[in-house]
Amino acid sequence: MADRFYINCPLAVGPVVLQGAEAHHLTHVLRARAGDQVILFNGDGHEYLAEVISVDRRGVELQVRKRNSPAREVGHQLIVAAPVPKGDRAQFLVEKLTELGVTRYVPLRTRRSVVHPHEAKLERFERYVIEASKQCGRNVLMAIEPIADWEEFCQRGNMPAERWLAEVGAKSVPGARGRDLVVAVGPEGGFVEEELQLAALHGWKSISLGPRILRVETAALVAAVRAMGYLTAVT
Ligand code: SAH
Repeated sequence: MADRFYINCPLAVGPVVLQGAEAHHLTHVLRARAGDQVILFNGDGHEYLAEVISVDRRGVELQVRKRNSPAREVGHQLIVAAPVPKGDRAQFLVEKLTELGVTRYVPLRTRRSVVHPHEAKLERFERYVIEASKQCGRNVLMAIEPIADWEEFCQRGNMPAERWLAEVGAKSVPGARGRDLVVAVGPEGGFVEEELQLAALHGWKSISLGPRILRVETAALVAAVRAMGYLTAVT
C-alpha cells in the first residue's frame, strides 16, 4: 500500500493542496518528491490515489488521479461502550478498536469508573483514530461519542436490538452475529448491581468473555472481535 494521508476536506479527481502536520510528514519524514504516488483519505469511505506535483514551504500540491472504494468496513454497525482506561491504555483501546473496524466508541461514566475525559482529551482520541486508520487502511473513521452516563446510555431508544453487556461470571457465551450490535464493558471495579438490573430491564444480555478477569481494554477488544464473529467463542 502507498503511504496514506488524512485530509480534512472533500476530495475528488483534480488538484488538492496538503498543509499542516500531514504535509510536514510527507515532505520532511518521507521526503516526497514530484512524481511520488500517495493515497489520500478523508473518512468518506473512499481513498484517492494522488501524485505529488510540487513541494514547497506552504504545502504539497497534489493531483488526485483516481478514486477507489475498497471494502474494509465490517458491514454492520458495531458500537463499543466502555469506561476510559487509565493512561496509555486509553490510546491503546482507541487504536485497536479502530483497527478492528468498530463503528463508534462511547466512553462511559459509571458509578465506579474513574477516568472522565473532557473535550480536549476526546479530541486527542480522534487523532488516534486517524493515525490508526492511516496504518490499517480504513477509509471510514471510527466515531468517538461524547462521554455518556451508563444509566442514560443503557436506556437509549435508537440502539441496535442486539445489546450485549460483558459481565464476569455470566453464563451466556456470545457467538458470530453479523448484524448491528452494541456491546458494553464495565469499569475495573465492575458495574454495581443497580446498573446491571437497569440494563437487564432494557434488553441487555449478559455475556461471558471467558474464565479470567480481563482489564477494560482487553474485555472491550475481545467483545468486539466476538461480535464480528472472527473467533469462535471459548469459555
Ligand atoms: N472486579 C470486577 C472486574 C471488572 S473487569 C468484577 O468482578 O466485575 C472490567 C470489566 O470488564 C467488567 O465490568 C466486565 O464488563 C468486563 N470483563 C472482564 N472480564 C470479563 C469476563 N471474563 N467475562 C465478561 N466480562 C468481563
